[in-house]
Amino acid sequence: MPELAEVAYYARQWDPAIGQKILGIHTGPKPRFFRHTPATAFRKALPGTTYRGARTHGKNLLLEFSDGLWITGHLGMTGELLTAPADHEPTAHDHLVLQTHTTSLIFRDFRMFGSVRLDESPDGPPPDWQALPPEVLSPAFTTERLTGALQRHARTPLKTFLLDQAWFPGIGNWMADEACFQLRLHPATPTGNADPAALRRTLRAICRKSLQTIAIDWSDPPASWLMRHRWKVGGDCPRCHTPLTRETLRGRTACWCPTCQKPPGKKPAKS
Ligand SMILES: [Zn+2]
Repeated sequence: MPELAEVAYYARQWDPAIGQKILGIHTGPKPRFFRHTPATAFRKALPGTTYRGARTHGKNLLLEFSDGLWITGHLGMTGELLTAPADHEPTAHDHLVLQTHTTSLIFRDFRMFGSVRLDESPDGPPPDWQALPPEVLSPAFTTERLTGALQRHARTPLKTFLLDQAWFPGIGNWMADEACFQLRLHPATPTGNADPAALRRTLRAICRKSLQTIAIDWSDPPASWLMRHRWKVGGDCPRCHTPLTRETLRGRTACWCPTCQKPPGKKPAKS
């Protein structure tokens, strides 16, 4: 599932059409994709407007058009934004295609957990966008805020808590595992045992580096990251070369090093 950096990557894909007028539109036949706004509303409103660009907040996308129109998008499990030449013939998975004189702007989704919503909001992004919680890299994501959050969720497994989008927008499965790994904490460590300052520092470093690599050109983050090894069949800890462990924790697959990340109550290995 796309996390913060992957969503930021997709948000850039429509950039070649910034400033261009929308001349045509195709909407796919699946009502599920248009569950928030019917396809007819997109077909009526968007032709004739100008594409202004994209921004992201966590896993959420916001696409701006002239005339105060905004598309709020969610990529779900397999959604992606991409471009093709203007004469692109939409595929069965191209649920929304906007044509400019040079380019087709495509929202493609194979599994259809993604969605789009159309809003008219002349004075800036829709109100619910403006009300989203602070992102990890925002100045409002302070140690104080995090300290309170960790105390309130003290008994929740750290990994599970890190997936809470109300506190950690854009952090998903691999980023949460990465944070536990870099902190040398077992994913089941009670949240109350985590050091807020260290957690904040680690999360910010992971977000920053991901946005400098994956979000730019899908390039890899450092080889010292768990992320680089967790997808392989087997896979060894980049730090101590112990085979990685994978288990389900509260419904999500967690991946960790059994040597570097001891279960709660046991002392971590010295490196
Ligand atoms: Zn290890």
